[in-house]
Amino acid sequence: MASLLSRFQSWLTSNRIRARELGLLLFACTGAAVWLFILDAPGATYILPAATHVSQRPALMWGFTSLALALFAWRRWREIDALLEEAETDVLTGLHNRRMIESLLEREFDRAMRYGRPLSLILIDVDHFKRVNDTHGHAVGDNVLATLARRVQRRMRISDHFGRWGGEEFLLICPETDTTDAMLVADRLRKSIRHKPMRLVGTVTASFGVSTYTGQGDYTALIDEADHYLYAAKLQGRDRVISKFTLMAQDALRREGRADEAEQPIQSQTPSDPDRLSSVLSTIMAPLQRKRERRFGR
Ligand code: GH3
Ligand code: MG
Ligand code: MG
Repeated sequence: MASLLSRFQSWLTSNRIRARELGLLLFACTGAAVWLFILDAPGATYILPAATHVSQRPALMWGFTSLALALFAWRRWREIDALLEEAETDVLTGLHNRRMIESLLEREFDRAMRYGRPLSLILIDVDHFKRVNDTHGHAVGDNVLATLARRVQRRMRISDHFGRWGGEEFLLICPETDTTDAMLVADRLRKSIRHKPMRLVGTVTASFGVSTYTGQGDYTALIDEADHYLYAAKLQGRDRVISKFTLMAQDALRREGRADEAEQPIQSQTPSDPDRLSSVLSTIMAPLQRKRERRFGR
């Protein structure tokens, strides 16, 4: 019973708008039912000495009162909804603000932990953004942030959550996504930002840190990990995606004496390049996959 109640509560939380609509519908239905009941009551005409039109008056009154109350409730709900949305939205980009994206992260993290599902985070930071502001002014900088947000929004999956983490940093939460897929998503976003110059500014690039939940730690540890890889991306020259796999691949290349290759970004820079990211990932993943198959007998 308690779990049923808590599931209903979490359903209400995650479907706030639908729950409101449901409430409004119930309210209107109750009003309508009372109205119909009075209209239909066989005793109404006997109890009230007046004729049918008199007995219908309270019914009409009920009807109008219900309608007025429903309209009033609808308007109040819309006002509250607008206020709530405002409190959860970043004004500049229209994305989830820090508070909202953090609460979505907490929720997705709990879900991944409870059901043992993969969850990846992609932390994005615009490269040399201070220069954009200094050269073109703050308003143009704002426009760059809004454009970048739109580009990512257009390309993200419907089940992902995207928000402004702060300043020129953004967070993409990818439920049901392992590191390999998250890296491919991040690299697609990186290209979409880089390949189309922005108005007044020209080419803008961003760096990406990818972390994946592995059954340990809490959601803040997952963010810290993404931040760590983002920092590595900045150190390695920006405009690239870094995850634990990238660092593993680079270590492997260095061990094989291919240090020059390790310094190259593990991703394709132009559409005509062979997709190095995919090939390096599959090289790294093959032994891991074999180990896993041996362990689980699959
Ligand atoms: P890096 O490649 O290392 O990330 O360099 P950066 O210049 O982007 O790094 P840094 O984090 O030092 O600079 C971020 C700048 O972003 C500083 C701040 O003035 C600017 N900024 C933060 N929020 C906003 C905003 O809402 N609008 C504008 N226009 N600028 C912002
Ligand atoms: Mg920054
Ligand atoms: Mg930056």
